[in-house]
Amino acid sequence: MSKIVGIDLGTTNSLVATVDSGIPYVIADTDGQRLCPSVVHFSAAEAAPLVGHAANRVRVLQPATTVYSVKRFMGRRGADIAREELQVTYPVRGEGAGPVTIPIHGRDFTPEEISAEVLKRLKLAAEADLGEPVTRAVITVPAYFNDAQRNATKRAGELAGFTVERIVNEPTAAALAYGLDRLQEHSKIAVYDLGGGTFDLSILELNNGVFQVLSANGNTRLGGDDLDQRLVAHLATLIKSSGGPDLTSSQLSTPNSHHLPLLARLREAAEAAKIRLSTETSVEIALPFLTPDFSFSYRLTCEELERLTRDIVERTRPHCLRSLADAKLEARQLDQVILVGGQTRMPLVRRLVSEWFSCAEFEEERGGVRLGDRFHERTGPMLNTSQNPDEAVALGAAIQAEILSGGFKNVLLLDVTPLSLGIETFGGLMNIIIPRNSTIPVKAGEVFTTAVDHQREMLIHVLQGERERAADNWSLGKFAVQFERAPRGVPRVGVQFEIDANGILHVLARDLKTGVQQVVQMKSAVDVADTEVQRMVEESVEHAFEDLSARRWIEAKLKAQEVLTAAQAGLAECATELDPAYRAQVEAAIHAVTAALATEQPATQTGELARLQAAHAALDAATQPLAEILMDKAMEAMLRQRGAIT
Ligand code: AMP
Repeated sequence: MSKIVGIDLGTTNSLVATVDSGIPYVIADTDGQRLCPSVVHFSAAEAAPLVGHAANRVRVLQPATTVYSVKRFMGRRGADIAREELQVTYPVRGEGAGPVTIPIHGRDFTPEEISAEVLKRLKLAAEADLGEPVTRAVITVPAYFNDAQRNATKRAGELAGFTVERIVNEPTAAALAYGLDRLQEHSKIAVYDLGGGTFDLSILELNNGVFQVLSANGNTRLGGDDLDQRLVAHLATLIKSSGGPDLTSSQLSTPNSHHLPLLARLREAAEAAKIRLSTETSVEIALPFLTPDFSFSYRLTCEELERLTRDIVERTRPHCLRSLADAKLEARQLDQVILVGGQTRMPLVRRLVSEWFSCAEFEEERGGVRLGDRFHERTGPMLNTSQNPDEAVALGAAIQAEILSGGFKNVLLLDVTPLSLGIETFGGLMNIIIPRNSTIPVKAGEVFTTAVDHQREMLIHVLQGERERAADNWSLGKFAVQFERAPRGVPRVGVQFEIDANGILHVLARDLKTGVQQVVQMKSAVDVADTEVQRMVEESVEHAFEDLSARRWIEAKLKAQEVLTAAQAGLAECATELDPAYRAQVEAAIHAVTAALATEQPATQTGELARLQAAHAALDAATQPLAEILMDKAMEAMLRQRGAIT
């Protein structure tokens, strides 16, 4: 079996890492470079593309044929690019629900084809380093990537010649990298990941080598590129107002615009200035000969950059709050906030994150953050920048790869159940026992009874899914539990679901009277393909109203059926004793319920449900005197039996 490598396929840079003798490391290419810019340049139609640093170098000169930040287009639909605020200097096409394509030299590339070129480069670097073919990989994605985006990432890996063993969320990978040398701790960690194009905030719990993801929130269109964009717009305004070319209105997808090379130069200068301002108080932005008779130069201060971009960084805050709320935690209950992603090197980001999470002992210095050494006196979480923010994700991916290969046995990355698990109950409804997103291992149970008199067994039909009706969910298996004959409602069967640490579901069903039980192992309950989970969740949302009315209809029907059966039995028992007018009244009420129950389709119309409920209520009211007569008769029979009356 070939080695599994870990890959961080980033918006700006990509990295490949592996584990050697228990030590994870980022693989350098033959030039000694560990970061591979996620940039691909096509010099001519048939020529092999330039990838990484070489492509980055020609980006300014050949902006229309050099693709960067393509991660933003992965798995997106044509309609999405119209909403995309990011300006890129290469053409991007797409309409409606169609795919996004990048036309270059007469050929339409998909974003995954471009990403595959970056992945091929990493594959070569890994093969050179390991001295053997590398065909298996773990690739990371932002936690907030949807199914289409994850699939596109997987496809990119396959196009590059990898078998993609696992797609892992970037923050989880980062926490894994952080956690490896602190396995004995029990702590709660927030991973704040602000990269080039995406933002994620995840909250994880680490307990003796076991990781649990408590919550994740983020935005796939928020990152360092937005800050660059803001700075570019600001500089373009200054250039225009000082008599230079008008770069303010250059639009996305206008590859022939003669302003594109200028825009690319401006963008590069802006990003470089932004990066330098993480360690300097002011920088000189110089763009000589933007046009033959115009040169631009400007001194940008850290304060000005912060003023220009603060609101973009602040857009990450609601995601932090939501993630905390989902994890049911206060910021102060966290132990660590880990910073991941190149953009978190910006002092403003560190300051704001520290403020929002009430990080203790935060002291800013130029060039980094010093953490107070009185750690034990802290009142809030510690801002942890001990990991290299650019490498943590790739290292974590390599650790995950090693876990999959059977290494690092003392680390267990806990998963959550992707879909709800339950059993089919009366009326063909799904009764959830373990809701989706429950952290595993998990155990839960419920007691069920029979709906029909003298039933001798109960069929346990195990289901997985988010739909209300059993038939719309997936069937994981069926088995029967036997018990003694008894009137309906009397037998009691306890059903317990347990998902073990490997994601295997064990279902136990026990007759509570005799204690006789059966345990059945179902197929893996956790390892469901992401696509299937996404489809199931999407369908449940799509059919939410319909499903809800189906459930209400079935429940109303079951209740009405119960009253109907009792009324019919009562009427048969006392037929001769009832006043004919009253009997006709009960019969009419029975008829109304029977008619309402005859509706085949579930009541998507509230009118049908209301009609059934009204008929049910009328029958209930009409049978009150009948119930009293039956009660008297039962009492009389009992007393007679005891010899009290003759
Ligand atoms: P990533 O996607 O993690 O590679 O992050 C890339 C983003 O981080 C880009 O927007 C970079 O401009 C930004 N970045 C990298 N280094 C720094 C730095 N020292 N200061 C500010 N931003 C940086």
